[in-house]
Amino acid sequence: MLTVDGLSSAYGRIEVLHGVSLDVAAGEIVALVGSNGAGKTTLLRTLSGVQPATGGRIVFEGEDIQRLPSHARVVRGIAQSPEGRQVFGPLSVEDNLRLGAFRCHDGTVKGRLDAIYAMFPVLHERRRTAASSLSGGQQQMLAIGRALMAQPKLLLLDEPSLGLAPLLVDQILAAVVDLKRRGITVLLVEQNASAALAIADRGYVLEVGHVVHEGPGAALLQDPKVRAAYLGV
Ligand code: ATP
Repeated sequence: MLTVDGLSSAYGRIEVLHGVSLDVAAGEIVALVGSNGAGKTTLLRTLSGVQPATGGRIVFEGEDIQRLPSHARVVRGIAQSPEGRQVFGPLSVEDNLRLGAFRCHDGTVKGRLDAIYAMFPVLHERRRTAASSLSGGQQQMLAIGRALMAQPKLLLLDEPSLGLAPLLVDQILAAVVDLKRRGITVLLVEQNASAALAIADRGYVLEVGHVVHEGPGAALLQDPKVRAAYLGV
């Protein structure tokens, strides 16, 4: 589904991704792990087009999308749930969700909303509430729901467990597995590397802008070097 080949990205003159290559096959959960500042968020932002690439190629379903603006990538089937949730605080839960379907003019918005509410019933209960008054876990569900309103084929999911209590982390990661069952492919960035690799088909370890390990999630979890460097074992 996605081939990233030699991708570079920079903030001003400082390059933070140095020729990253990876693949994501349709139907997979692929985890991207690594220490703070490794470039995980920059990679997701470069894939969604929020951050420009300075070199390399991004091929999605056979099409080179690197020069396409973000909104065109959304139409192709890529949506991002950003780090820190970035919900629109003063807007209601439902209006936040509707914004996720801003490209949709075909009368399917109601059906899309119903599907999100079926997945996260608490969002239905709180649909008229300002997003800012939701708990962290609920805001995370909202950020995922907003991305899903675009009916993506590939969900770029950045740090969904950040700042959540363990029980909620389990709930959010179970929702990610459920997305896979529904046929959505997920590229998942997580600080919580053990939990992410445990649900991932495959994983990549990023270190200062380079891919330094890759393999099946279960194999990376067992790899002594990965365990020592990233899993605190
Ligand atoms: P974290 O888990 O802390 O979010 P990360 O692996 O997602 O880390 P990035 O946020 O992509 O890493 O950051 C990669 C590098 O780019 C870091 O050195 C960071 O300081 C730098 N960086 C990130 N955002 C910006 C920005 N807007 N301007 C300048 N430098 C940035």
